Amino acid sequence: MTTMQPEQIFQRLAQLFAAYQQEQTKGDYVVYLDPGELQKRLDLEQESLPGDWQELFHWVETYLHYAVKTAHPGYLNRMWAGANLPSIIGEMTAALTNTSACTYETAPVSTLMEKYLIQSMLDLVGFQHGVGQMTTGSSNANMIAMLAARNRYSHCVKQQGLFGRKELFAFVNEEAHYSLDRAANILGLGSEHLIKVPADEHGRMDTQILAAELERVSEAGGKPFFVTATAGTTVRGGYDRLEPLLALRESYNFWLHVDGAWGGPVVFSPKLRAQYLPLLEQADSFTLDFHKMSGTALMCNVLLMQGNSSELRQALSAGDESYIFREGEDGSVRDLGTLSLQCGRRVDSLKWFLDWKFYGREGLARRVEQYLELCAYAEAQILQHEQLEMAVPRESFNICFRFRAPAGMDAAKLNTAIRERMQRQGRYLVGTGFVRGELALRLLVTNTQVGRPEIDAFLAAVVRSGQEILTARDTAFQ
Ligand SMILES: *Cc1c(COP(=O)(O)O)cnc(C)c1O
Repeated sequence: MTTMQPEQIFQRLAQLFAAYQQEQTKGDYVVYLDPGELQKRLDLEQESLPGDWQELFHWVETYLHYAVKTAHPGYLNRMWAGANLPSIIGEMTAALTNTSACTYETAPVSTLMEKYLIQSMLDLVGFQHGVGQMTTGSSNANMIAMLAARNRYSHCVKQQGLFGRKELFAFVNEEAHYSLDRAANILGLGSEHLIKVPADEHGRMDTQILAAELERVSEAGGKPFFVTATAGTTVRGGYDRLEPLLALRESYNFWLHVDGAWGGPVVFSPKLRAQYLPLLEQADSFTLDFHKMSGTALMCNVLLMQGNSSELRQALSAGDESYIFREGEDGSVRDLGTLSLQCGRRVDSLKWFLDWKFYGREGLARRVEQYLELCAYAEAQILQHEQLEMAVPRESFNICFRFRAPAGMDAAKLNTAIRERMQRQGRYLVGTGFVRGELALRLLVTNTQVGRPEIDAFLAAVVRSGQEILTARDTAFQ
C-alpha cells in the first residue's frame, strides 16, 4: 500500500493537472467509447485497497483519460467550453477550504466578494436600487424571478398557495429556454398558464401577438404577472426587443424578467449592449450565466432585481431559520443564505472574482466582441460554400446551418449522421437544434482556443464527413 504525505499529494496533483492542461487542446477531443465499452474499461466495481494513494491517483488519471476535453477547439457543442484559468484556481481554492457561502461566519470573504459582485453587476446593468444573488444557474434564476413575481402579484400566496384565487399567467417566447416550463411546473402555475408567444422571422417574440394574448387573458379574468424576454435564445440566438415589452408593461403591470443566460454578456461591451440590449436598465430582473460566454468555471450565475432585499427575502425565506442566520447590526443582510433557496451554498464568488480582476470588464467585452466577429466570419464562409447553407440567417452568436442534402434525401438524417461521425472520430462535437421544425447543426463559439483557422477546419470537416457519407451510400447502392 502506498501512503503519501499531504505535501507529496499536492505535488503529484499539480503535475497531473499541468500535464492535462497541456494536452487538453491537442489530439482528439475525446477517447470516444460506447457506454458498454467504457463501463468495461473503467471496471468501477473492482476491489480497492483502502487508504492507497497510488490507486487513488490511478482513478484520477483514468477519469482524465476518458474525460471530454471541453477546452479543445473541436468542442463546439455547448454554450460553455473549457474554463478560464483564474476561475479554475478559484474553484480549487473553494474546494480546498470547503465551506458554505450561506453565512458570514462560515464564509466571510466569499460573502463580501458576492456582495461586491452583485453591486458591480447592478451598477453595470443600471439597476439603481437593486438586490441580487448568485444562484446555481439561469434555470434556477428564472424560477426565482418567477417566484418573486408570483408572490408580488398574488397576495398571501406564500401562506395559502395558489388555491381558489385569480389565475396567474406568464408569457415567454416560444423559443425560450425549457427552464421556464419547469418553473411553471414547480411553482404550481401549470404549463397551461405559461403562454408561448410565437416568434417572428428574427426569432423574437411577436409583440403584437403578445399584446393580443395579454388582452385575452385579462378579459377572461386572469392576471398576466410575468413576461420573460430572452436575451439570446438558446438555439437561434434571437434577442427579444425590450422597448415594446416595456410599453406593454405600462398597460398590464407585469414583471419583466430578462433571461440573459446565454446572450447577457453583451452588457460588458457598451457597443454590443446598445445593439442587443437597449433599455435593459428598465427591466425588473435580469440573469446572466458567467459560466457560458464569459468562461468562468461551471456553475456561476447571478440574478439581479430592482428593489430592496425585503421583497426577495419575503418571497424566498420560509420556516424557522433562527438556528443559522443572523442580521447585520443595522438590520441589513449579513448572511446571503437568507436570500437563497438553498441552505448549503457552494462558494461561486471567488472564481468570478478572480476572472473579474484578471480580465476586467474591458477584457470580457473584447472577448464577447471577438466571438461575435468569429460568428460573422463563420456565417460568411458557410454562405460562400456551395455544399453548406444557413438554416436561418444569423441573429447574434448562434450559427444554425446544414450540409445540403441531395434531392430526395432527408437532410435531418444526413446532418445527424455527420454529427455522429465527427463525434465518434473524436474530432468534433457540435450541437444540433430544431429551427422552424427542421434540424440544423448549431455552431457556438465560446472557446478562446477557436479562431478563424479552427472554424475553417471545422467547416471543412463537416463537408468532408458529408461527402464520405454520400459516397458510402452511393457505393452501397451500386
Ligand atoms: C443555458 C440557458 C439557460 C439555463 O441555464 P443554466 O445555467 O444551465 O441553468 C436558461 N436560459 C437560456 C436562454 C439558456 O441559454
